[in-house]
Amino acid sequence: MTQANPILAAKNIQKAFGDNQVLKGVSLAVARGEVVSLIGASGSGKSTFLRCLNLLETPQAGELAIGRHHFEFGKDQRVPGKAQLALLRRDVGMVFQHFNLFPHRSVLDNVIEGPVQVKNMAKAEAKELGRDLLAKVGLADKADSFPSRLSGGQKQRVAIARALAMKPDVMLFDEVTSALDPELVSEVLAVVRNLASEGMTMILVTHEMAFAADVSNRVGFMSEGVMAEIGAAADVIRKPQNPRLVAFLNRFHQQAGTAPA
Ligand code: ADP
Ligand code: MG
Repeated sequence: MTQANPILAAKNIQKAFGDNQVLKGVSLAVARGEVVSLIGASGSGKSTFLRCLNLLETPQAGELAIGRHHFEFGKDQRVPGKAQLALLRRDVGMVFQHFNLFPHRSVLDNVIEGPVQVKNMAKAEAKELGRDLLAKVGLADKADSFPSRLSGGQKQRVAIARALAMKPDVMLFDEVTSALDPELVSEVLAVVRNLASEGMTMILVTHEMAFAADVSNRVGFMSEGVMAEIGAAADVIRKPQNPRLVAFLNRFHQQAGTAPA
């Protein structure tokens, strides 16, 4: 897949928290319909990078182009305003490790909140969209349930449906299966896999190595705030070059009790 005409291009993104330079100039271009997984040790900056892509964090330097949105960061640049951020976040959906559903609203109301509040979609139309999306994530029968009645895997699928309700151009997934009991992981991965097959552009931070190898076009390895290696999924995971990636994958396979592929 070529990134000649990327839907998302992040260039030289830098982010520090105090003295802690977390992102030391990270670049990534993603083609429409491409799936890129980001792997790397805890603390390497994966979440911070994803959060910079929808400006939950404002980088101190670099450039970001996503669809019709374009931002430059730096001392002389204006910080994006609320309205600009809201427009960006319509087009860039994000799903987190913890689902953040509204506990006192039904599943369907959680899903349609964005289109109704942000896009002023008519309630009836939003409900139809919401029911379609719940069917898509295998939860057609849960529309009127409350989040507390759902399993973690079901809640995470609601969170995915809620992000999809904005009809984003790009979806960001930050370790969406890490908080789940092992037996619930596969139902969420199945939804992500289905989105990939439908051509959704996605960036996934994940520790599910086999899934990343299988579902992604490319895999990037982040280490100490840089994109230390990036390439075709099979190459990065099965023929790692960077010594830190080799060590990371070995540690991973030891912990998981799996043989290096
Ligand atoms: P990863 O997702 O790869 O585990 P993170 O991006 O969450 O890594 O964190 C990278 C580093 O940035 C860590 O040292 C973390 O403590 C720091 N960090 C992340 N968010 C903040 C924040 N809001 N304030 C201060 N430090 C942060
Ligand atoms: Mg993280």
